[in-house]
Amino acid sequence: MSSPIPRASALGRPGPRIRGVSILGSTGSIGVSTLDVLARHPERFRVAALTGNTQVARLFEQCRLYNPDIAAMLDTRAAAELQNRINQAGLSTQVLAGEAGLSHAAVLAQSDIVMAAIVGAAGLMSTLAAVRAGKRVLLANKESLVMSGHILMQEANRSGAELLPIDSEHNAIFQCMPAGYRPGTSDRGVRKILLTCSGGPFRTTPLSLLAGVTPDQACAHPRWVMGRKISVDSATLMNKGLEMIEACRLFGVAPDQVEIVIHPQSVIHSLVAYTDGSVLAQLGNPDMRTPIAHALAWPDRMESGVDPLDLLEIGRLDFERPDPERFPCLRLAAEAAMAGGTKPAVLNAANEVAVSAFLGGAIGFTDIPRVIEHALAQVAMHPETELDVILADDARAREAARRFIAMLSDRPMRGAQ
Ligand code: NAD
Ligand code: MG
Repeated sequence: MSSPIPRASALGRPGPRIRGVSILGSTGSIGVSTLDVLARHPERFRVAALTGNTQVARLFEQCRLYNPDIAAMLDTRAAAELQNRINQAGLSTQVLAGEAGLSHAAVLAQSDIVMAAIVGAAGLMSTLAAVRAGKRVLLANKESLVMSGHILMQEANRSGAELLPIDSEHNAIFQCMPAGYRPGTSDRGVRKILLTCSGGPFRTTPLSLLAGVTPDQACAHPRWVMGRKISVDSATLMNKGLEMIEACRLFGVAPDQVEIVIHPQSVIHSLVAYTDGSVLAQLGNPDMRTPIAHALAWPDRMESGVDPLDLLEIGRLDFERPDPERFPCLRLAAEAAMAGGTKPAVLNAANEVAVSAFLGGAIGFTDIPRVIEHALAQVAMHPETELDVILADDARAREAARRFIAMLSDRPMRGAQ
């Protein structure tokens, strides 16, 4: 879909202006789904910028197909290799490198919309750059909201940026909020938010086996195909803990107004309970192209490629209370949310380090909450939440988590028989 031509309307007037889109993290799971949706609407959108970390082959292929103005890679060697391949193929895409390259893709004049889909705290600075530039920002990068949601909201107010949630639950909640609702504000009619989750791959696994589960088992999510970090988060339910904090940031509610409900079919993506007793829900097949298409077209609707929901085929919808013994990460996230200040950033940073150590085979699955609990106890909370204070506590938490992991790695792996 390179250089699509706008269709003229039936009256001979030019069609609506084509909106430029930058995708931060285009080589990942959300990035690929976003390109799939955009390719269905060449008359409405064009790809202005794509970014990746190290995956040259995939980013080159995306440049070949979508012909963006800019392609940026965090890794400078990968960027040089991409530049070579772009030159050889005779493409006009300009290649940029490093964090500055990512942020440039986020603020590009020809981009009206920025998909923030880098995984982890690594996505914070480019997301913030897009918000400061007043873009429509499609927020998939939940970690940046957990770390510094209030800063993103303040900056959006200042610049006029439109923040639209992509996380399926938060997109569902946004769809259930009153017309005209603006993320970051409170609505007095909302009593509670019900955040649904599938329960992940270990919902019914005997507790005694959890210490020995492998990264591949943890990443085999029963309903969603996602990147490996969020897949592990979905197995520990830290994903739901992060999402609880994300919901507080986005919808102006207190942590005790967010209730987590396990719903194994993943058909109801979340619900909003109002003071008059009404409960509104958003339903659909579990496919991220629905929230992506919703936020791209908002306030319109457009085709996403997702199959229509067939309730009769699904037959039943079940709900369960999460088991605190099985999912200790939920308690840790709730405590961090209640404490406030830099605690959510510490929780997030320690979790990133622990998940990466688990994926790399250095620690077991049940060590993940132990690492996080240790870091939360080690790093004193700062009530001030300026960006530099948040980043300093993020770094302290990573260091505390790494030291604890090094200590754990010196002992024989628990449960790995
Ligand atoms: P992924 O691992 O599939 O992709 C991550 C992307 O970020 C890739 O393009 C990668 O190149 C890039 N990246 C990784 N490290 C980077 C770094 N240090 N600097 C710059 N770029 C880097 O992840 P994903 O599943 O697509 O998730 C992306 C974000 O969306 C996460 O924050 C996740 O929590 C959120 N999210 C994902 C889903 C889903 O279904 N996959 C659903 C809801 C929310
Ligand atoms: Mg989610």
